[in-house]
Amino acid sequence: MKKKLMMIPGPTPVDQSVLDALSKDTVSHLDPELVKTLKETLNDLKAVVMTEKGQPFIIPGTGTLGMEVAIVNSLKEGDRLLVISHGFFGDRFVEIALGYGIEVEVLASEWGKIVEVEKIAQKLKEKSFSAITVTHVDTSTGVCAPLEEVAEVIKRFSETLFIVDAVCATGGIEERMDDWGVDIVFAGNQKAISVPPGLANLVFSEKALERRNALGNISSYYMDINRWLSIMREPGSGYFATHAVNMVNALHQGLKNILEEGLEKRFNRHKRFALAFHAGLEELGFKLLAPKEIRANTVSTILYPAGIEDLSFREKLYQNGVLVSAGKGVLAGKLFRLGHMGSITENEVVATMSIIEKTLSEFNYDFELGSGIGAAEEILFKE
Ligand code: PMP
Repeated sequence: MKKKLMMIPGPTPVDQSVLDALSKDTVSHLDPELVKTLKETLNDLKAVVMTEKGQPFIIPGTGTLGMEVAIVNSLKEGDRLLVISHGFFGDRFVEIALGYGIEVEVLASEWGKIVEVEKIAQKLKEKSFSAITVTHVDTSTGVCAPLEEVAEVIKRFSETLFIVDAVCATGGIEERMDDWGVDIVFAGNQKAISVPPGLANLVFSEKALERRNALGNISSYYMDINRWLSIMREPGSGYFATHAVNMVNALHQGLKNILEEGLEKRFNRHKRFALAFHAGLEELGFKLLAPKEIRANTVSTILYPAGIEDLSFREKLYQNGVLVSAGKGVLAGKLFRLGHMGSITENEVVATMSIIEKTLSEFNYDFELGSGIGAAEEILFKE
């Protein structure tokens, strides 16, 4: 079977250099070379989220582990958490926090929209919250939170820790941890970082580390960042839990690739690819769920025009060579989700547009062949 283009919002295609790193010999977590690699990886993670003061943690697990690590290390039973939810992954914070007896309030938007920043400001004025969570890009809705604006508001409430789920953004969209006063930011591996899934990558601010200490004993062992802290500060200095050594090598290479491309260049590339897809798909008669101003550069949610049925479209598209994802929850059947992040190339954008057109031509769908690709190319090649 021919290799398919993985245009899903994670896992994303992985560069050969990362696969090569992943397949290096499995060595001891105390091996001097591995220790050096972990040190560099921790530093590179800081560079990607633009922090000098932050304390990075790289922990075997997935993005969901990152969510839970953030929660259990910043709140205890009875503390108040404000969740800003723009979809499925925003809502996940609610489930996690309720499991720990945390008092949760939610400001949720309609799926495809965002919670207005003024509403967040109003809520924080009304009541005191120990922490607030914001999902940078909610992968279910393709919506990008206006993080910098939200940050300006949260800065005024020093008792509130600012937690950012950056799983679908880090490495593809700008995140300025120090400038924006983010207290905990975390990502997985498998989205815009373009590394196979398997690690939760977090950075804690000094304030977030102080909060952890103020909590005293917490109800988790593996997720307690204080148990990981000495190894993260001084890799090789001891043992807490055996690190996923091969994954560390892979992440090391993935982050090197990001920094070698250059953050600004990489963020611009993501923007260009997103705009090219949006223009091309709109030209073909698709509509996007998210309004222009809040569309993510990493994933798009694309509503079907009349006459195109979800499952048969995605199946035919897959047979033709492109894998996309289904809509989640209330959006199931109404749209497909297209991932365009990480190490994908211009050629893959063009090929995807072409295969979408081929697939549409196999339905009784009225459009001009080449028009979608043309609109995408206007952006890819001219801007
Ligand atoms: N947050 C967001 C925004 C996500 O997109 C995802 C995964 N799609 C997660 C959290 C959970 O990550 P994982 O599947 O790696 O546990």
